[in-house]
Amino acid sequence: MDPVLEKDPSTETLSFLNKKVSRRDFMKFCTAMSALLALPASFAPRMAEALTNAKKPYLVWLEFQDCAGDTESLLRATKPTVAQIILDILSVDYHETIMAPAGFQAEKSLMDVVKNNKGKYFVVVEGSIPLKDGGVYCCIGGRSAVEIVREVCGNALATIAVGTCAAYGGIPAAQPNPTGAVGVKEAVPNATVINLPGCPMNVENLTACIVHYLTFGSLPLTDKLGRPYFAYGKRIHDNCERRAHFDAGQFVRRWGDEGHRRGWCLYEMGCKGPETFHNCPTIKWNEGTSWPVQAGHGCVGCAEPYFWDKMSPFYKRLPNPPGFGVESTADKVGAGLAVATAAGLLIHGIGRAIFEGKKEEKGGE
Ligand code: SF4
Repeated sequence: MDPVLEKDPSTETLSFLNKKVSRRDFMKFCTAMSALLALPASFAPRMAEALTNAKKPYLVWLEFQDCAGDTESLLRATKPTVAQIILDILSVDYHETIMAPAGFQAEKSLMDVVKNNKGKYFVVVEGSIPLKDGGVYCCIGGRSAVEIVREVCGNALATIAVGTCAAYGGIPAAQPNPTGAVGVKEAVPNATVINLPGCPMNVENLTACIVHYLTFGSLPLTDKLGRPYFAYGKRIHDNCERRAHFDAGQFVRRWGDEGHRRGWCLYEMGCKGPETFHNCPTIKWNEGTSWPVQAGHGCVGCAEPYFWDKMSPFYKRLPNPPGFGVESTADKVGAGLAVATAAGLLIHGIGRAIFEGKKEEKGGE
């Protein structure tokens, strides 16, 4: 296959010279990225041009209270994809799980990026940040996660919070939230943060954010929860391949029953697709092979804030509004859950208020 982008082999520009990516694959990638970003296909050549000549941005990847699932998502492709190469050729100067240096040397590389590139580097944060008891529940190199994140994200061009833990606190923030876990934006309110929630985030969406920046010089538009519209603008339910069965009132009633074997709707088995916003059904996982609902399991709503408290029990169906079972009532499901969500958030807020009150009583931080 023809190597592409043979011009400009400088280390300061994106170059695929040694990456064995054909022009055809590269243009396919640019076309797919245009589609993912909801841009017309005519943007693909502009994207290709921009990616060829863009300056290589610095990027540091921080991990706090997490399971490393987002790093797994980044690394687990079965073969090197163009998307991986895009991420690979960023100047990734710090990533605890995959970098060779350790200890003092590693922490120095992080601080060198912060000091020498103020306002010019990206941060990817994976995992939540504990605030309780001065942040003692997550420390790296003798510093608390909250201290690190305030310095590193506070001086960055932008932070991409990957996974629900980094975006909203995730599972560590589930009640009773013993460490006082929060997402990046709550820990560093003045930082520019884009959220890519999900357990884990889909690396295609991370790539698209970086490609958008390299092409247009800005991050994609986001909703009130800091999520890019291109990836979180539509409900899972609206793009689900089982939707016709929902509209026809054909539901799985028991695992392994005839409806399950025939691919019917999983709503009765607890699917949270009607109340979850994500592009899972369209980009899928493992290079577009499948996604949970296609594999036969309902959506658990992992991309929504406080999903562990708000969406559980996972195997119980959403509130059942009158007339449910036809397409016209689907939005009422969302309205019903919005009330439940508000109640859940109120409880969460009360929990936090109690926690804050206790802190004050104890003369806490
Ligand atoms: S309820 Fe779940 S399985 Fe059924 S159509 Fe909606 S997203 Fe798909």
